[in-house]
Amino acid sequence: LKSLEENRKRIALTEDTLSDWLEEKFPWSAQLKSLLKEKFKFDHFRAKQLAAINATLSKKDVLLVMPTGGGKSLVFQLPALIDPGFTLVVTPLVSLIQDQLVALEKFKIEAATIHASTSKSEIKEIYDSMTSKKSALKLLYVTPEWIARSKKFMSVLKKCYEAKRVARVAIDEVHCCSTWGHDFRPDYPYLGLVRSLLEKVPFLGLTATATMSVLNDVQTMLNLENCLIITAPFNRPNLFYQVLPKPATKDGVLNYLEKLMTEKYAGQSGIIYTNTINECISLATALKGSNLRVAPFHAQLEPEQKKKIHRKWLDNTYQAVVATVAFGMGIDKPDVRFVIHHVIPRSMESLYQESGRAGRDGKRADCIVLFSLNDYLKISAMSTSLVEEKKAQQVLEYCVERLRCRRSIIATYFEQVWETSDCNKMCDICKRDVKIPAYYDLTQICKDLHSLIDQAKGFDEKLTLIKLIDAWYQAGLKKFRLSNVEKPKMSKEHAELVIAFLLLEKYLAIDKGYTMYSTVSYIVKGRAVGDEKVEMLASDGMKIPKRLKEEGDGSPAKKKPRTD
Ligand code: ADP
Ligand code: MG
Ligand code: ZN
Repeated sequence: LKSLEENRKRIALTEDTLSDWLEEKFPWSAQLKSLLKEKFKFDHFRAKQLAAINATLSKKDVLLVMPTGGGKSLVFQLPALIDPGFTLVVTPLVSLIQDQLVALEKFKIEAATIHASTSKSEIKEIYDSMTSKKSALKLLYVTPEWIARSKKFMSVLKKCYEAKRVARVAIDEVHCCSTWGHDFRPDYPYLGLVRSLLEKVPFLGLTATATMSVLNDVQTMLNLENCLIITAPFNRPNLFYQVLPKPATKDGVLNYLEKLMTEKYAGQSGIIYTNTINECISLATALKGSNLRVAPFHAQLEPEQKKKIHRKWLDNTYQAVVATVAFGMGIDKPDVRFVIHHVIPRSMESLYQESGRAGRDGKRADCIVLFSLNDYLKISAMSTSLVEEKKAQQVLEYCVERLRCRRSIIATYFEQVWETSDCNKMCDICKRDVKIPAYYDLTQICKDLHSLIDQAKGFDEKLTLIKLIDAWYQAGLKKFRLSNVEKPKMSKEHAELVIAFLLLEKYLAIDKGYTMYSTVSYIVKGRAVGDEKVEMLASDGMKIPKRLKEEGDGSPAKKKPRTD
């Protein structure tokens, strides 16, 4: 297995030689241009689309990494019209296939699909047109399940290959091959079989996931070690990223969303992501109660309902969809002006992809995460593996950050090369004018919190976040309070950020308690009490990086969530 370093070099090399693929001297160059305009009705190619198309038409194996909305579909749809025979397209979801078929029908391009619910007679028809030299079939969409389960399909495919009818294989969302990726699909590894069956057919893998570990995996599993890797700019310069403290009460959140939708985003389109079906339904119901045009979208809806909601959102009957992660791949509305995470996303991948559904038209759009530490604790409590917990924690780090550009955090996570100037003040951190000093002494705060936790332990109790904050603010049950712990001057929302920071730095920790019906998260002292950090803390004068201090006087955040 090639080392990460080597791979990185290889990518850099392909970047250097990319200009070869942008020239207009290919036999098909003129035809490409006219098809782009006349069939697809686009004026010009986007960056990297043309390079990838020229490379795949030159029968090179290509791995194309382009952010969501970058225009990957065109890269296999257009070449399909130039080469004889048909292009086999593997796509993970039937709903994605259907979206593409609808679009292709408009362009009058012959396409078909086979998947688990295709009727026998249809399948037979499609098999005939796959093999028949006379057929006009240009694109055949299948799910990986179909490939993994249907031996008959594989044998028909072999026949087509021998008759030179398979022009190319395009594998969409190719990161689904990798167990490192966020949506591994067990049938994707079977595509290695297709690769060995269709030895001389060019392969084209498409994904928005650019981490080295994932790309490496994909190359190994599909035997694409010598492919050309083309990566498109990962940065979405027109998206404004921000994190705002989530108002403490349900009503507060509702009022805030209502205000945004009726004032700042009046008449504009958006998505509000939340994390459970129940929450999705109740939030949508509440917003509807305030006369907002929204609808809930989640996995339990019937396909027909889903389509209807999607359509009504596309034609702006609904201003926003209140959605779970089920509102995902294939969502393509150009003028989405806001994506709000009502609950923090579960991973940096979700953050990037879900936010990325905003502003596909290139105009400014806002990506807002409403942060509440309690939401994080719930996600962490529900997570079923260490990987999931780690992923949630990376999002927590993104939210708590006060110094580094939001974009640079995202870029670093995806192992992208990053220039600070690339943000162009398009995140809440870079936009802030006030310079904040790098350190802020949290020692007393940490000691106070430890004293409260110790006292509760003294009578054999543990504190949930709410009880801890209450006690700290001299509220809630009397027995948990301490007279020598001074009531903090900062807002409770900001107090949550401080506690989140101390959790990340391991001065505090989460202790999960399990009841019959749920998991309860308690806040306890960090790691072992003998932990080096905590001991150092005990000696006075220990400073903690002041990533948390708001600009100004040290008594932060009386502010309402800003809307910038
Ligand atoms: P991806 O698969 O990379 O997320 P899609 O292929 O779904 O992206 O394309 C996203 C949007 O970009 C679609 O609305 C598509 O019509 C549009 N698009 C693609 N290529 C171009 C182009 N060259 N010019 C203008 N719009 C384009
Ligand atoms: Mg796509
Ligand atoms: Zn920034």
